[in-house]
Amino acid sequence: MKIFFLGTNGWYDSTAGSTPSILIDTVDSYIILDAGFGLAKAGEYIKKDKPVYLFLTHFHLDHICGLSALSKLPLKQSLTILSHKGLNKMLKTLFVHPYASPTKDLSFKIKTKELKEGSYNLPIKFECRKLAHIDLTFGYRLYLEDKIISYCSDTKPCINDLKLATGADILIHECGYNLQPPDDFWGHTDPEGAGKLAIEAGVKKLYLTHFGPNAFPTRAKRLEAQKRTRKIFKNSFSAFDDTMIEL
Ligand SMILES: [Zn+2]
Ligand SMILES: [Zn+2]
Repeated sequence: MKIFFLGTNGWYDSTAGSTPSILIDTVDSYIILDAGFGLAKAGEYIKKDKPVYLFLTHFHLDHICGLSALSKLPLKQSLTILSHKGLNKMLKTLFVHPYASPTKDLSFKIKTKELKEGSYNLPIKFECRKLAHIDLTFGYRLYLEDKIISYCSDTKPCINDLKLATGADILIHECGYNLQPPDDFWGHTDPEGAGKLAIEAGVKKLYLTHFGPNAFPTRAKRLEAQKRTRKIFKNSFSAFDDTMIEL
């Protein structure tokens, strides 16, 4: 299994990276996590006719803007988009003229699945739970090739964050803030918050992503975040747009 970070910024694209998208290449399928502008690079890695599942955490624009580049994907097979309630309404509202090319005009078929919190086997085995973010957001815990990959973005550390991450082989966690504000109503995490969560959850490795481009404008700033997180949890890494994990 390989995990490709295609976009590792939150909020907006900058020289540090594109908005969030991650591609997981497994024996049986391709799994894409979020559809920021990083999604436009997914076609470079999708070479086989395996099923493609796209999990959206929420509908903030930085997580769905890359859907406008779906036509760039060289798919012969259909694409299944999964997210919480409101997915179909979002697609019908935003991915129509005059905002974007409608998904029905794509050369491949789109299927959708609206999820409730809980466990699924579709046949991808996963669990989804609500996170602590300003608008409805799901985190995912995926069971892939005897490994657990947890993806929590966007959120501040919370109980469901911990549940999704517990015992994960790889926890991919957002790092929107340089310093968590005490009165955080928006819901993001700073390097120390992610490190503490990783320790508490007993994960094997933590990858920070969804870096706020204002808080982490350079590669050096992301490496500082990695250093701060490693003081709490040694097996921490800052992801970059070209980061690949093989496991
Ligand atoms: Zn975001
Ligand atoms: Zn968000």
